[in-house]
Amino acid sequence: MKKTYNISVIKGDGIGVEIVNEAIKVLEKVGKLYNVEFLFSEFLMGGIAYDKTGDPLPQATIDGVVKSDACLFGAIGGEKWDNLPRDKRPESGLLRFRKELEVFANLRPAVVYDELIDASSLKPQVIKGVDIMVVRELIGGIYFGEPKGKSETKGWNTMVYTKDEITRIAHVAFKLARKRTKKLCSVDKANVLDVSQLWRDTVIDISKEYKDVELTHMYVDNCAMQLVANPRQFDVILTGNIFGDILSDEASMLCGSIGLLPSASTGTNTAIYEPIHGSAPDIAGLSIANPIATIASASMMLRYSLDEPQLASIIDDAIKQTLKDGYRTKDIGAYDAKEVLSTSQMGDKIVSNIK
Ligand code: NAD
Repeated sequence: MKKTYNISVIKGDGIGVEIVNEAIKVLEKVGKLYNVEFLFSEFLMGGIAYDKTGDPLPQATIDGVVKSDACLFGAIGGEKWDNLPRDKRPESGLLRFRKELEVFANLRPAVVYDELIDASSLKPQVIKGVDIMVVRELIGGIYFGEPKGKSETKGWNTMVYTKDEITRIAHVAFKLARKRTKKLCSVDKANVLDVSQLWRDTVIDISKEYKDVELTHMYVDNCAMQLVANPRQFDVILTGNIFGDILSDEASMLCGSIGLLPSASTGTNTAIYEPIHGSAPDIAGLSIANPIATIASASMMLRYSLDEPQLASIIDDAIKQTLKDGYRTKDIGAYDAKEVLSTSQMGDKIVSNIK
């Protein structure tokens, strides 16, 4: 019997439209070959939603996403909306979206493809075999803490975590570590921040339930340094919202381009699958954006939300094969390229490798 999945789609702004279209193409091909139907419903968010409705996150979008099996998301934001009042800005819509859906766990894998080993600014012997999973807490910490505000002469934000918030993200990270190499590094700033000391104490408490997982702790500044000095020492990195935001962008450059890194934001509700990058206004409309991060996010969707790990592997293999064949987008075009392709040509090549 044919399986059917309802996928909510938010393309957003800038390159969001271009890259999501490629992921949809790939899902449709997988569906056609393996007797699975994906029903896509599109919703507005970000700058485009503000332009059309006056709200960067219309209620209809939240309602539609909640009803779906999973959400495929592009990116939002752009200069056009940068001077709007804070609550009308695309980024505020995105934070509200994550909070409303309670997607507290952001999984950001950073895997170095052998084919792109020279695309990294680091030496091949340092990055070969890197396979890191950053588990970032997504709806707490300084991006959400109160009080926050700005006057003429002062700006302030508050980094807050409750024990419950740390506990639930720690469980996600320990469970993932168990399925991988059983190594978990918790990253904080406990030498300076009280909130980080609570983070560390709580993670140590939770670790008693996962005695088979080797737990280490690292300060965030040291982690930023270790990630480029010796990235292979890491398997699962567990960290808070702002530290995870920064460290995962850093980890993306181990891999060669931010256009390669997917993510899953999961919690108690519908999960969101999106590339880790933004709307890249500097290249929007030029058809040069790398769609691989978004296509790999669709693969994560199959793996984590739809329980279709085989289909996910088929997409992952198609991406690898396309890179192996020497096809590149411009961001990774300087490295062993047989041909540099546009966004949609790259999507087509990956589709043709879905077997
Ligand atoms: P960005 O990630 O959009 O771009 C950073 C750099 O990476 C740019 O040079 C861009 O061209 C390049 N890049 C990004 N994705 C790429 C891809 N797929 N292929 C090739 N190159 C790619 O970050 P930014 O410039 O700091 O932010 C631009 C806008 O995106 C801002 O409005 C920001 O708030 C927003 N943003 C949105 C999200 C999101 O929607 N989740 C995340 C980050 C930033």
